[in-house]
Amino acid sequence: MADERTLFQKIIDRDVPADIVHEDERCIAFRDINPQAPTHLLIVPRKPIPTLNDLEPEDGELVGHLFLVAKQLAAEEELTEGYRTVFNCGDHGQQSVYHLHLHVLGGRQLSWPPG
Ligand code: AMP
Repeated sequence: MADERTLFQKIIDRDVPADIVHEDERCIAFRDINPQAPTHLLIVPRKPIPTLNDLEPEDGELVGHLFLVAKQLAAEEELTEGYRTVFNCGDHGQQSVYHLHLHVLGGRQLSWPPG
């Protein structure tokens, strides 16, 4: 039978290796394999929500938790000058993995607009 799990579900299930920096009962965080900044982390809820558009009202606390983990990991990575958090959503947002994830980018001066 076809394996319909997303890549990030396979990382959560430990079937694909990743450089994991944080894990708790609600999410996992690991280093992006193609980093766009000296620190580039992905924070992924264990719940397999495809995109931001699939969030339900009851997911509000979970999303808040992802941001609190982002803040904690940014401190651990010593991103004292600041950093950026991003949810890419859908085609125009250039989302490539359809399992919700929060990017944390830092360690260099970022530019705006993002392009
Ligand atoms: P997005 O384009 O917002 O869906 O982000 C997906 C991210 O996953 C990209 O930044 C990729 O570089 C990253 N990525 C793809 N495969 C892996 C992997 N095996 N381990 C860690 N990060 C990955």
